[in-house]
Amino acid sequence: MSNRAIVGINWGDEGKGRMVDLMTESYDIVVRYQGGGNAGHTVVNEKGKFALHLLPSGILREGTVNVLADGVALDPENLFAEIEDLRSKGITITPDNLKISSWASLLFPWHRDLDGLEEARLADAKYGSTKQGIAPFYADRSRKKTILAGELFYPEAFNRHLDTVLEWENLTLDKEYSASTYTREDIDDWVKRYCEPMKPFICDTGKYLSKAQAEGKNILFEAQLGALRDLDRGIWPFTTSSNTTASYIPVGAGMPGVVLDDITGVVKAYSTCVGEGPFVSEWTGEDAEKLREVGEEYGAKTGRARRVGSFDCVATRHGVQMQGATEIALTKLDILSYMDTIPVCTAYSIDGKETDEFPFPSALDGAKPVTEYMEGWKCDISSARRWEDLPEAARRYVSFIEEAAGCPVVYISVGAERESIIIREDRKSEWLREHRN
Ligand code: GDP
Repeated sequence: MSNRAIVGINWGDEGKGRMVDLMTESYDIVVRYQGGGNAGHTVVNEKGKFALHLLPSGILREGTVNVLADGVALDPENLFAEIEDLRSKGITITPDNLKISSWASLLFPWHRDLDGLEEARLADAKYGSTKQGIAPFYADRSRKKTILAGELFYPEAFNRHLDTVLEWENLTLDKEYSASTYTREDIDDWVKRYCEPMKPFICDTGKYLSKAQAEGKNILFEAQLGALRDLDRGIWPFTTSSNTTASYIPVGAGMPGVVLDDITGVVKAYSTCVGEGPFVSEWTGEDAEKLREVGEEYGAKTGRARRVGSFDCVATRHGVQMQGATEIALTKLDILSYMDTIPVCTAYSIDGKETDEFPFPSALDGAKPVTEYMEGWKCDISSARRWEDLPEAARRYVSFIEEAAGCPVVYISVGAERESIIIREDRKSEWLREHRN
């Protein structure tokens, strides 16, 4: 038995989907345990190019069981659109390869409305939400105003519960925002259309996973977004509304006794950030345009241009620590091949003082990047499959990042395709030897 978490080290979009797709071969089950369909994993394999939002990336492998666990924002409407899209591309999705937790809460249409209304009210002070209803959903979940998927099997109780929730939501829509409300008929239609078809997929996935672990099955946990967007310890208030860290897995997966053998922290060879919030190593102007274009940095869900910048050693080391990462998967190294010299943000200057410690979020406003320059390699590295295939300058860059992050770089991705990867099997043990003192 071996379980692994694949988590984001920075702001999200690090290439986690690509790593999950690569690794699912060795796992029986892939689990999404937090977040919703508000971000996206892009996966390229022999079947085509797929943008996954809520479904675990294991859905693209035959024989892999995929779980949407307790902690996800279960958006039936978007889930079905995603399932239909994948089915139209030849992917089989049945209750055998997709299991939805009876303990997951349902994201209703009003969550999306409330998200959009609040962002509009905030105007220039907006959080940069994808308007998928995630913040109102998790707020409602905490104040017990959501309905669990498993309640669908108890129609009488479900109907009573829906009445009270609907009354509350209509009050909020009307009184707080003067927005249009929902009738019970609207919601009954919605439930019939999007929730009823979900029933064959719903079960107690926590029990299913705990049993699978006891039977020695290999389980992969797939996170959404990155450490810096974590609700509790991220760049508050520009966080997401769920916990993006591996430490949330026992709760979000409903598996109190989960054993994690590896925590793979995914990070890009440069930094990107979609949406609002502090991003110290951000570039602007022509350099930013060029990197965005070469790296194709546009959001998988919204198509929004991502903010880009130098690799941020401070944020990355902090992300590694927050995730408890045991190894790093470094993605998109190939994108940097056009650069003569590669800027790296090695510290922050705050009020004239240099620090390599990630500060309390409020201090990030005035932080300036301290930049060092690494030599570029200026050649195509996309066909490299072994560490030795990389030019020396590229190896130096990776080793520099590794030291700064304080964690061994075991995987180096040099292209979006499944096989475009360098795996340094022995790097973890070498690292331990090198850093033992
Ligand atoms: P995720 O949400 O963390 O899975 O990240 P995204 O899927 O939003 O963003 C990663 C993007 O980079 C996707 O379009 C991937 O296909 C692509 N990608 C991942 N790794 C590599 C790589 O090593 N090289 C290149 N050129 N593209 C990559």
